[in-house]
Amino acid sequence: MSCSHSSSCELYPLMAMEPALKLWKQHYCEGNFEKCARYVLSTEGKPVPLTLLPNGKQLAPRSKDEINAAALFNAIQKHRLPLIRSMYKTGVAKTEATISDGTTPLMAAATLGHVDIVEFLLEQNANPFRRNKAGQTALELAKAGGHAECVARLDAAMQAHSPEEYDSPAPREANAGDSAEDREGSSIVSFLRKLNPFKTATS
Ligand code: SF4
Repeated sequence: MSCSHSSSCELYPLMAMEPALKLWKQHYCEGNFEKCARYVLSTEGKPVPLTLLPNGKQLAPRSKDEINAAALFNAIQKHRLPLIRSMYKTGVAKTEATISDGTTPLMAAATLGHVDIVEFLLEQNANPFRRNKAGQTALELAKAGGHAECVARLDAAMQAHSPEEYDSPAPREANAGDSAEDREGSSIVSFLRKLNPFKTATS
């Protein structure tokens, strides 16, 4: 039996594609959910801190870039290209972001077979020659997943450009018309909650 909060738990967008999330899910969400600190607080009607982990510890403080990266990977996982476009437009998303296993946004999109996101990230100068900590490129991950369209697009990009052309990618500037308020709108909680399609106050 799975936790009744699985469809809305705020831990998920926070951890996005982090490998550790799979372990939390297996151990707590699909198993001992009654032992989960988030679940316990929720059933007691108490507020559940966004950074509270199932084992009762707090997620280590993260930089703004790390939080924004989690939001980006979450959007990729949920195949939300319009939101990803918006994140790039406001300067929230960074193509060079990675999660703990070295996965880049391009690798994540290739792994999931989201060719439209692969296309968009390549347009943002995402480097298809980068490798994760296991030594895999986005192309290799797309091949492993059997995502032919992603394979074709990534292969074409690698044929058309050399690795050196990606060495000094020009970071995308926020649009001149974007206000400071727009950029500030990328704050941690608001963005993570925006990513969460469920509006419950607790997990
Ligand atoms: S409350 Fe705990 S067990 Fe339930 S979905 Fe969230 S993390 Fe998993």
